[in-house]
Amino acid sequence: MTEPDPQSTVSPGAASATARLDHVRRRIEISARRWQRDPATVRLVAVSKTHDAEAIRPVLEAGHRLFGENRVQEAQAKWPALKDAFPDARLHLIGPLQTNKARDAVRLFDAIETVDRPKLARVLRDEMDREGRELPCFVQVNTGEETQKAGVVPAEADAFIRQCRDEYRLPVQGLMCIPPAEEDPAPHFAFLKVIAERNGLAELSMGMSGDYEIAVQFGATYVRVGTAIFGARPV
Ligand SMILES: *Cc1c(COP(=O)(O)O)cnc(C)c1O
Repeated sequence: MTEPDPQSTVSPGAASATARLDHVRRRIEISARRWQRDPATVRLVAVSKTHDAEAIRPVLEAGHRLFGENRVQEAQAKWPALKDAFPDARLHLIGPLQTNKARDAVRLFDAIETVDRPKLARVLRDEMDREGRELPCFVQVNTGEETQKAGVVPAEADAFIRQCRDEYRLPVQGLMCIPPAEEDPAPHFAFLKVIAERNGLAELSMGMSGDYEIAVQFGATYVRVGTAIFGARPV
């Protein structure tokens, strides 16, 4: 049996974002049940990067509340107004964070998924203290050890997680990874789960449009899906 291709649902105008959101939700549920998981334990982060407020609003109006953005400045341009209109909307930062943007990030976002170096951990601690906000944090692990990719390398993950907790008192809830584009993601997802378990971390942010069902199989508690919901991003 061949798996349906998630890309097949994203041809322009073929379906609305809300219809595609329902479709993704249904597929998450099917995958969860297939692997004896409670579908409610898999949360869907709708990745709205590059899409404007007009594209995001219908998804909010349909009741979805959890979103991901990868750039602080772009999110600042779109989300304050959307959050005014939908105060219970929650926003995860899923892209690399520069320390000079940490204050803006702590003000706007509700979770940081990309903590990957001591300097950033320290600055996030300072800014959370200053703002009086405790944001759930994820440590990003570069499971493929790709030089161009953010994230702590696996060999340093345990020590860095410990440092984030003990030295910087960050509320680390889980791990996040982006497997190499050309590889089978399954071993990367399995590896991330092993690192999380040995560090007592419950949350796993893994899986994107092309592989979120596989991520559910391997224990994802957050999947980050953009294209399969909002359609192809403008290039
Ligand atoms: C863009 C992005 C996603 C979503 O990717 P799609 O393939 O469009 O679903 C997920 N995670 C991260 C970190 C991203 O930057």
